[in-house]
Amino acid sequence: MTLSNVANQLREAHQNYGRFDVNSRLEKLGLLKKVILKYESEITHALRSDLGKSAFETYATEIGFILEEINYTLKNLSSWAKIKKVKTPLTLFPGKSFIHPEPYGVVLLISPWNYPFQLCLSPFIGAIASGNRVVLKPSEFALETSSIIKKIISEVFKEDEVIIVEGGLEETQTLLKQKFDYIFFTGSTGVGKVIMKAAAENLTPVTLELGGKSPCLIEESANIDIAAKRVAWGKFLNAGQTCVAPDFVLIPAKLQDQFIERLNYYITTFYGLDVKTSHDYPRIVNHRHFDRLEQLLIPEKIAVGGQLIREENFIGPTVMKNVVWSDKVMQDEIFGPILPIIPYENLQEAIKQILNLPKPLAFYLFSEDSEKQNQIISMIPFGGGCINDTVIHLANPNLPFGGVGTSGIGSYHGQKSFDTFTHYKSLYQQGSLVDIPLRYPPYNEQKMNWIKFFLR
Ligand code: NAD
Repeated sequence: MTLSNVANQLREAHQNYGRFDVNSRLEKLGLLKKVILKYESEITHALRSDLGKSAFETYATEIGFILEEINYTLKNLSSWAKIKKVKTPLTLFPGKSFIHPEPYGVVLLISPWNYPFQLCLSPFIGAIASGNRVVLKPSEFALETSSIIKKIISEVFKEDEVIIVEGGLEETQTLLKQKFDYIFFTGSTGVGKVIMKAAAENLTPVTLELGGKSPCLIEESANIDIAAKRVAWGKFLNAGQTCVAPDFVLIPAKLQDQFIERLNYYITTFYGLDVKTSHDYPRIVNHRHFDRLEQLLIPEKIAVGGQLIREENFIGPTVMKNVVWSDKVMQDEIFGPILPIIPYENLQEAIKQILNLPKPLAFYLFSEDSEKQNQIISMIPFGGGCINDTVIHLANPNLPFGGVGTSGIGSYHGQKSFDTFTHYKSLYQQGSLVDIPLRYPPYNEQKMNWIKFFLR
């Protein structure tokens, strides 16, 4: 394999051997599931080593998530992949019309380090289900996971079906110079722009799964105890390194102290009094991100946590109170276990402040007032989100997952993954026995009357 030519290599195979039929896709996905199960303990070990993830978190958010995605695809693929007959208007009599789902061809998938197994394989399942050949680039910052992914994929797919490229910037740049039929990227908004520019050179369609600051708005009717419990879970899962983690909380000023007291309670309940000894609390991926996060802290505003150990890349769950929009922590996506709380006096003002931000990947609303729920949800644009919960919307394969505006372009999960990697080819099929003369010149008044009769 020559890195500078991987797209052509797969394209040649695609042209020479044709696309995969539905049965072979089902067979490959079934085998992929078996091989993942075979390596379950190695995957768990890799994620412990790359990010300090607990076995439970790894199963719930990485392995189990992928198994579910495969199961759902296995169950539905035959129906998604069927050629569909659609209605044909009378004017096109006696032809018939069809939609043929067809794979794009050769797809490039680039993935990040924070859920390095799930975010690599989840779009991969969609790409394979749609019948594509794939170049897969796992993240260079989760090396053990990258290596186990390579092992798994090599046991299931041949080199003319899927090519794994391990590596960083240089390798990705070499890939981006090549012509792919589709590029699917998960990562930061900044790198998303680089990807889209490269794709534009060949007019290659893209899906960009990006990030940004996802707000959590607590309205005064909210159940504060439940809100604190679910925010603490969604924020400190994977030590805050989750693209859809609540980035910050807006709360009525009078409820701020009560909310922080409950947050503190749940942080201790989840991870114990000494969080660094908890097996359930992961680490920051590397020193670069540790240092970046440390810079965001304002010691006087820390209400909970604030413990940092650089040698271990450990940052304990940290809550900052009375945060204002001009604080450094509010300038960019946090992507770590720091939760700023911004108190507000007026709900409409708080909504306005959210509307001033770029459209977020996720939005969370805590409220027991259904009228307010409807009003707020209809006012705020966002990729996906929850009412009275956080993060969990991702677990429903019937909900497409993706951003809007600077948080992303396109979406996937469940059938949307199949749609993303499929071109729906339209086909009108005619016979030769009947040939209605209306459309052919020379035109006359009678033909005009007929066309006006049909197309009113
Ligand atoms: P990143 O953008 O730094 O890197 C993602 C991938 O892009 C990596 O594989 C990397 O090798 C490659 N890359 C990095 N710089 C590049 C460049 N200049 N040119 C070409 N390729 C380059 O993102 P990350 O640090 O791995 O992940 C964190 C970001 O990803 C956060 O912003 C987070 O919100 C976002 N994210 C989004 C989702 C989502 O589903 N929407 C999921 C996870 C993470």
